[in-house]
Amino acid sequence: MNEGGSIADSSLVSVDEPPLCPPSVVAAPSVDANYSRSDLSFRSRLDAEKSGRWSEWKWQIRNRLRSVGALLECFPELRMSAEINEVVARYPMAITPYYASLIQRLDDLDPVFRMSIPQIQELRDPPFLKADPLEEDQDMPVPGLIHRYRDRALVMATTTCAMYCRHCTRKRVAGTRESTLSVPRIRLIHEYLTAHPEIKDVIISGGDPFTMETSALERILEAVRSVPSVELIRIGTRTPVVLPMRITPELTAMLRKYHPIWVNTHFNHPQELTPEASNACTALVDAGIPMGNQSVLLRGVNDDPEVMAQLCRGLLRMRVKPYYLFQCDLVRGVEHFRTPLAKGLEIMEYLRGRVSGLAIPTFVVDTPHGGGKVPLLPNYIVSMSPTHTVLRNYEGMMVQYPEPRYRHETEHAPIACAETPEGVWQIASGRQTAIIPMGGERAVRRARKSRVVSLK
Ligand SMILES: *Cc1c(COP(=O)(O)O)cnc(C)c1O
Ligand code: SF4
Repeated sequence: MNEGGSIADSSLVSVDEPPLCPPSVVAAPSVDANYSRSDLSFRSRLDAEKSGRWSEWKWQIRNRLRSVGALLECFPELRMSAEINEVVARYPMAITPYYASLIQRLDDLDPVFRMSIPQIQELRDPPFLKADPLEEDQDMPVPGLIHRYRDRALVMATTTCAMYCRHCTRKRVAGTRESTLSVPRIRLIHEYLTAHPEIKDVIISGGDPFTMETSALERILEAVRSVPSVELIRIGTRTPVVLPMRITPELTAMLRKYHPIWVNTHFNHPQELTPEASNACTALVDAGIPMGNQSVLLRGVNDDPEVMAQLCRGLLRMRVKPYYLFQCDLVRGVEHFRTPLAKGLEIMEYLRGRVSGLAIPTFVVDTPHGGGKVPLLPNYIVSMSPTHTVLRNYEGMMVQYPEPRYRHETEHAPIACAETPEGVWQIASGRQTAIIPMGGERAVRRARKSRVVSLK
């Protein structure tokens, strides 16, 4: 599916210019408590800027670090085991010089290092991890379109990203080959959306759609916008974080033609909140595009309530609304990033009451077996009776909420007590991993699809 013309075609990787090393990095612990760049990397970045091309996004993409060799050339102090080649062979690596310049120390205590530099732990999978735990491939009625919720669909516009996050939930596709939706596939997606007017909200995702040429992305937006029943177009992109120079006036001018457009991005740590990233978000918001942020909760990166509070406040200053905080999915290759669910709840407990309500994301688990997102919150209900509910606030204060003087018109039948374990209890007791109701629209669609597959 390579007709869409991704600019990040692998043929462009070997270029005439020698690979430019990102600004050098101190191997010793950084002294910058506030996540500002170390002087050393800043100086080198300026050197590169003198060459004039640092701020060209295509130059950044062409000069991504794509091999262990390129990595070691740029970070000679880096120590890596030979096994790392196996990691890169299985899960592609790419780091923009810009993003590499945000690394402050060369070990995985550095959040940017941890998110971008391959680790041998990626090969150590417990058996319950899956390549596609959300079963996206089974909710794909046409290639490249995931239809999970009734009113929303997600289009995988490209498999290319500017930087391949080591924690990516789509490790099975991201970067395995860098390609974009072909014109015939865009046509199929257009036909599907037209045949399904219940879809009101289309998410253009990937990969990272902003790695595409503006004209190639526009072909997709045009096709989606021409379906009258589609109200909203959302784009998911990490370029404001890893390639902020991509947000050019040419791009925002194109996007404005397809309003209402929303953009969700993916900041995970305050170290990523640079002036360049801020400019990128400002340019998008000034083009009338509301922005949200979808963080992933990652061990050793942002599994700390105060780091998360700083990140969320920083995002609001850039007019980006923290939208979701995702629990790490059960994806192969990411075990070393996973945190217990309790960590997310601890962070939510810390945020509520301490930071602006606007800064508080919804903590969600994207459930295995394609169950979709489930929000989790600490429990604020202490007790309930038909007349009074007892709530507690973040300080631990307990208050009474008197219920309205409303009477049920009919009595409810008493709850039947089953003799054998049934329902949710089957899961809670570990007998089953899921209960999936049959007969809903989506279940029928899936059954139809698996029938088609089995006929082949
Ligand atoms: C997350 C997701 C959506 C959008 O969900 P929202 O809660 O509306 O942001 C839609 N489709 C798929 C497949 C998703 O994973
Ligand atoms: S930008 Fe998104 S799709 Fe690409 S590697 Fe990162 S998490 Fe995955």
